[in-house]
Amino acid sequence: MDIEQFRKAGYQAIDRICDYYYTLQDKSVVSSVKPGYLRDSLPVEAPEAGEDFQKIADDYQKFIIPGLTHWQHPSFFAFFPTGCTFEGMLADLYASSTMNPGFNWACSPACTELEAVMMDWAAKLLGLSPEFLNTSGIGGGSMQSTASDSALIAVVAARSLYQRRHPSVTQSSLVIYTTTQTHSLGLKAGLILGLSVRALEVTWEDKFSLRGETLRKALEGDEREGKKPFILLATVGTTSSGAIDNVSEIGAVTKDYPDLWVHVDAAWAGVALSCPEYRETLHLNAINEHAHSFCTNFHKWGLTNFDASTLWVRDRKYLTDALDVTPPFLRSAEGDAGTVIDYRNWHLALGRRFRSLKLWFVLRSFGAEGFRDYIRRTINLNNIFASLVSASSVLSLMTAPSLALSVFRLDPKSASLNSTKALSPETLNDLNRIYYARISARKDILLTQTVLNGAVCIRFAVGAARTEEVHIRKAYQLLSEEGKLALEEWTK
Ligand code: PLP
Repeated sequence: MDIEQFRKAGYQAIDRICDYYYTLQDKSVVSSVKPGYLRDSLPVEAPEAGEDFQKIADDYQKFIIPGLTHWQHPSFFAFFPTGCTFEGMLADLYASSTMNPGFNWACSPACTELEAVMMDWAAKLLGLSPEFLNTSGIGGGSMQSTASDSALIAVVAARSLYQRRHPSVTQSSLVIYTTTQTHSLGLKAGLILGLSVRALEVTWEDKFSLRGETLRKALEGDEREGKKPFILLATVGTTSSGAIDNVSEIGAVTKDYPDLWVHVDAAWAGVALSCPEYRETLHLNAINEHAHSFCTNFHKWGLTNFDASTLWVRDRKYLTDALDVTPPFLRSAEGDAGTVIDYRNWHLALGRRFRSLKLWFVLRSFGAEGFRDYIRRTINLNNIFASLVSASSVLSLMTAPSLALSVFRLDPKSASLNSTKALSPETLNDLNRIYYARISARKDILLTQTVLNGAVCIRFAVGAARTEEVHIRKAYQLLSEEGKLALEEWTK
C-alpha cells in the first residue's frame, strides 16, 4: 500500500467506523456466532500472493464485525465497561503511525516526556499526593498495559525490596496477601512468581471490605509461624461488588509492619477519585499516606481506549532496583547521566506502546470538568437502576450500589407472586441460575454474574460512554420481565 492508497483506505475506514457508531444501538450487544466460526470462514494459511486491500477491508466487515461483542453498545453492562472515545482512537492511530517502542528517553523523547507529564496530570486529577508525581524526582507514575501487569510489577518490586532488607529470608516463606474478593491478578502474580498467596477473609457484614483487625490478626499469626507477608494487594472497588478495603485501618496496622508493601488496586473505581465527593469513601487520604503503589485503569471507566493502566509508586527506586537490566546496547548518555526517565526499567518488557498520547487527547478534549461529568453521570445512571430495583417486587439489591455498579438478584418476595414461604439459599441460587441463563441467552443486553457469600447474584455495571437513562430503564424492564419468566420456568 502506498501513501495515496493509505489515504483512500484510511478515509474509508473512518467512514465505516462512523457508520458503525451510527448503527451501534440497532445491533445486538452479543454476537451470534458459534465457536470455530472464523476458522471455517478463513483460508487455512496466509495467501501466497498479496491481496487487494479493499477485499481485506471488506472481509473485516464480513467476518470480524459479526464475531464481536459490542463493548461500546449502550446496553453493555457486563464486567466493567470500557468507555472508549474517538479521541483515544485517533491517538492510537497516530501512535501506531509512527510506531516506535519508546523504551527509553533517547529512543523517542516525546514518548517518555509525554508519559511523565500525563502521569502527573492524572495524579493531580485524582488528588494523589505530590510524592507520587514524576516532578517529585522520587516517586512517579508510568503507563502499563493492565492492572494485572501493574500488580505484578508491584509484587516484583516489593519482593526485591524485602529481600534486600532481609537477605537471609527464603523465597518459600514469602507470602502475598490478598482478600477473598481480590481480582484474580493476586493469584496470577503468585503463580507467575512462584509465591504463596493468602486470601484474607472479608465478610458480608463488613461489605466485603478488608478491616484492619483482620489484617493485624493475619500478620500476627503468620509472624508466629515464621511466614513473611511482604505485600498486601488491597482493592478499592472490587470486581464482584465494588467493595472498598478499609485503607485507613490498613494503614494504621501497617505502621507497625513497615516491611509490608501496600499496593492499592483501584483498577475500576480509582478514576472516581477525580470527583472530590468520592475521595473520602475511596480512602484517598489513606492511599496518599500509606500506599507504596497505586493503580487505576483509565481504560475501564476513564474514557481512554484499552490499554491505559496507570501505576504510581512512592519511590521509583523500588522499581528500578528490581527491574533495571542494562546491557551495553541499551545504554544512553542521558540514561547514564540520570537526567531522564528510562521507562524500560519501570515495567516488565522492554518495548512499550505510546499510551500517553491517548490520555493526552482524552484529558484535553474532555477537560477535568468533562471527565468528572462523565463519572458523575454514570454513577447517577446506576443510582437510577438501583432505585428501580429497590422498588421492584421481583428483584433485590444484594449490596448497596457502589459508584456505577449494582449487584442484585431475583428474589420473589412479593405476595403477588404467590411466594408465601421464604426460599432456602440453595433454592434461591437455583432460581438465579435459571434467571441468569435466561438473561445471558439474550443478545440485546449483557451482564455478568458473580457469587457473594455463596449467593448467586448478577452485576450491573454502567460505564459505556453512550449509555443513557433510556437504556437503563429499558434494561430494568427487560430484567424484570425475565425475572417473572424465570419464576414461571422454575415453578413449572
Ligand atoms: N482489578 C480489578 C478490581 C478489576 O475489576 C479488574 C478487572 O475488571 C482487574 C483488576 C483486572 O484488570 P486488567 O484487565 O487491567 O488486568
